[in-house]
Amino acid sequence: MNVNPTLDSGLRVALVTGSTSGIGAAIARRLSHAGYAVILHSRSSEAAGRAMAAGMKQAVYIQADLALEADRVRLVSEAIASWGQLDVLVNNAGISRVIPHGDLASATSAVWRELHEVNVLAPFHLVALAESALREAARSRRAGSVVNISSHAGVRPKGASIPYAASKAALNHVTRLLALSLGPDIRVNAVAPGLVDTPLTAEWHGAQALWREQSPMRRAASPDDIADAVAMLVASDYLTGEVLLSDGGLNLT
Ligand code: NAD
Repeated sequence: MNVNPTLDSGLRVALVTGSTSGIGAAIARRLSHAGYAVILHSRSSEAAGRAMAAGMKQAVYIQADLALEADRVRLVSEAIASWGQLDVLVNNAGISRVIPHGDLASATSAVWRELHEVNVLAPFHLVALAESALREAARSRRAGSVVNISSHAGVRPKGASIPYAASKAALNHVTRLLALSLGPDIRVNAVAPGLVDTPLTAEWHGAQALWREQSPMRRAASPDDIADAVAMLVASDYLTGEVLLSDGGLNLT
């Protein structure tokens, strides 16, 4: 862990979970370009995380398995210790399981528990652990900001599996409940992407065709499109409790 005592007092600090790949990496880069000191995080890709941090102006990397309570506690405490403050928490890390919705037997209790642990319990607990630091941000700078990355599957009856969609619907509701409880010190919003071009979804040919042919924007989102939506919510001084559907308009069809 790096400690940077030379940080100028105007700087803001953001923790982006799951930020060594895909959408999280784009969000971390965007916030870094916007002047944030960034805490990068992932479950396993430590070398990639450290290399990414080295290439950014002010960044550190912390490994943690968000399925483990002890790791969640350590992540937030090390993140706050990095610069002695935390202004923004982006709960991006998430997992998915592809199970046809009609195949109820394959959606086992173990699958439900695994997805809820990482997609719902972890974001909620990270907010709880970061609450005092985010409130402190409001006292000395501006309101703390939480952005949860959920999914259009949490808004519409769609998605990789029923347990995945339900976990993201829960995250959307947690977003609104926390916004109500934590304002005005802490704003809490979510971005709900549709299909995003990442290595994982490159093989999802049916979904790619659906977005290309049916959505008003005629394409899936890039990770940078989602990072733009996150940056907009972080930059706001007013928006809270919003679930920003970012699906290129597919929901209109
Ligand atoms: P990704 O697999 O590239 O990134 C997921 C990140 O989550 C990784 O960095 C991984 O380390 C982290 N992670 C997973 N389990 C973890 C654990 N137990 N502990 C710590 N970290 C863990 O995937 P992505 O597509 O960039 O997804 C990012 C977010 O966007 C996820 O929450 C996902 O559900 C959501 N999302 C993605 C899409 C899409 O089309 N790619 C669509 C809608 C929502």
